[in-house]
Amino acid sequence: MLTSLPRSNAALAARDLAVLWHPCTQMHDHETLPLLPIVRAEGVWLHDADGGRYLDAVSSWWTNVFGHRHPRLVAALKDQLDVLDHIMLAGFTHEPALELAEELVRVTPAGLSRVFYADNGSSAIEVALKMSFHYWSNLGRGAKQRFIALSGSYHGETLGALSVTDVALYRDTYAPLLLQPLFAPSPDAYLAEPGESARDVATRRLAELRVLLEQHAAQTCAILIEPLVQCAGGMRMHDASYLTGLRTLCDEFEVHLIADEIAVGFGRTGTLFACEQGNISPDFLCLSKGLTGGMLPLSAVLTTEAVYAAFYAEYASGKAFLHSHSYTGNALACRAALATLQVFRDEPVLARNRELAARLARELDPLRDHPNVADVRQTGLIAAVELVRDRATREPFPAHERRGLRVYRHGLAHGMLLRPLGNVVYFMPPYVIEPEQIEMMVRVARDGIAEAVR
Ligand SMILES: *Cc1c(COP(=O)(O)O)cnc(C)c1O
Repeated sequence: MLTSLPRSNAALAARDLAVLWHPCTQMHDHETLPLLPIVRAEGVWLHDADGGRYLDAVSSWWTNVFGHRHPRLVAALKDQLDVLDHIMLAGFTHEPALELAEELVRVTPAGLSRVFYADNGSSAIEVALKMSFHYWSNLGRGAKQRFIALSGSYHGETLGALSVTDVALYRDTYAPLLLQPLFAPSPDAYLAEPGESARDVATRRLAELRVLLEQHAAQTCAILIEPLVQCAGGMRMHDASYLTGLRTLCDEFEVHLIADEIAVGFGRTGTLFACEQGNISPDFLCLSKGLTGGMLPLSAVLTTEAVYAAFYAEYASGKAFLHSHSYTGNALACRAALATLQVFRDEPVLARNRELAARLARELDPLRDHPNVADVRQTGLIAAVELVRDRATREPFPAHERRGLRVYRHGLAHGMLLRPLGNVVYFMPPYVIEPEQIEMMVRVARDGIAEAVR
């Protein structure tokens, strides 16, 4: 405890609201919405200052893959703290940074052989955008200056990352400040025409992308994709054949493929990386969130030897990638990431996740017939329920009614942290969740939905 002042939910919330400005929050909401002080966390549980607890069904913004304070991560960090904290990574190196790079190269799709660190997901996207642009420039192909992103995509909130994000709520206000990417239609299976399968949608969207590339490839550096699941854009999912086709198009038109696995990497979709399901290797792979098991901020951009080689020259050639962040390759964060990868290596995480995913599917099944549910979809341990006003027409609830917020409130009142994205109620639990807790999680959500749609 930091001070001897009273330690209740109300007291801590009042002190917070006097000094803090919270992320992704209209602070005015907290005039009526309780702000929850968490004083301890363990496994799937968050404990507040009044003795209440909440099951972290969203893995603390999708970072916390192995539950809070996983013993192996805690032990690794304590050990690291006694040896080396943080040093700058220019001119110096350390074992956690290089061992993590070796491990990442080993476990990611073939062909990715170079690791560049940053300290959060958005920064990883900035690195990939700049590297791709700079690669073409170093090759004398300076006309390649634009990016293609998919509709409904989310790649972060710094200006470059926000430029290639297509979520109006986050992007529109800042539009005058942003790069002008091309947006290709997402292979989102929710947008299927009557009678179309997810695979059909992927095929149709690839044909549309081909037309876009025929017109713009000469000016395009790279295409960005969140493989299999567009998460912040509403947990919209697509068929893995889109990835395979996208790789083929990128090769044919000489455009880089940037795979943003910041949310879906590290076992979330059923494979260690989502790209594996399309049998592809991207030119850039962006990782963060689950990378440190949710312990510390860290991100990594993996790329190919071909990209690395385009920057490797005499200093005077001016080809170097002179990008840095102060905390690049932080030793503690790298050590947490190494411990996370060790858990994947030593424990049957993916096999257990498949069992948990099957249980989640069973629990969600009854919601498919709900009059205000247009879609129940799932990829591995990500599941989402699309709430609508009218199931037949898929007419959405007006955003200002904030139906999802009602589910959130109901969840908190029943010991469950669900944080819907607009009208999409989703589940992204830590992998240490027990099957009975999955049942509880879905039950609370179902009751919350019943109240929210009234
Ligand atoms: C969260 C996220 C980001 C941004 O990461 P931050 O660490 O929040 O900056 C980028 N891409 C995807 C797919 C994400 O889910």
